[in-house]
Amino acid sequence: MSVDKAFREMISAEVQQQLKSFQTTLVRDLSALRALVEGLGPIASLLGVSSPSGRRRGPGRPPGAGRKAGGRRGRRTRLPAGGACAIIGCKRASRTKGYCSAHYQKLRMLSRSDRRPADWKDYAAPQSVTDLVLPRGRAAHKKKDSSGS
Ligand SMILES: [Zn+2]
Repeated sequence: MSVDKAFREMISAEVQQQLKSFQTTLVRDLSALRALVEGLGPIASLLGVSSPSGRRRGPGRPPGAGRKAGGRRGRRTRLPAGGACAIIGCKRASRTKGYCSAHYQKLRMLSRSDRRPADWKDYAAPQSVTDLVLPRGRAAHKKKDSSGS
């Protein structure tokens, strides 16, 4: 038991001493390496190599070259912010000429079939145009028949 303990203590002392000397050499080597790197720094920057003190750039776009955080691509950027659809009661945002996508399609359909009301103007003020309720089903067919004859 006691022999074993003594042996262990001897080994731990040996290991600690070894470790201490290793640490000192490591620290010395590191400081030497750092001095070497610092000495090489100006040369590296002259050669165009990024110095360790300078900011490293990874692959990809450089900062600031990408899209701006608030900006969107396409036509949406031209629209006034927070514009509502021109149709009264429509809660969607305006997308084209002051109308939301659905009501702009309706506007196109109405103008194509010569049924566009006078107040359905381009770039109408938000919530200023009364919606047009088109007849559906049999009523639509009846109207078509009556207009045809
Ligand atoms: Zn709408």
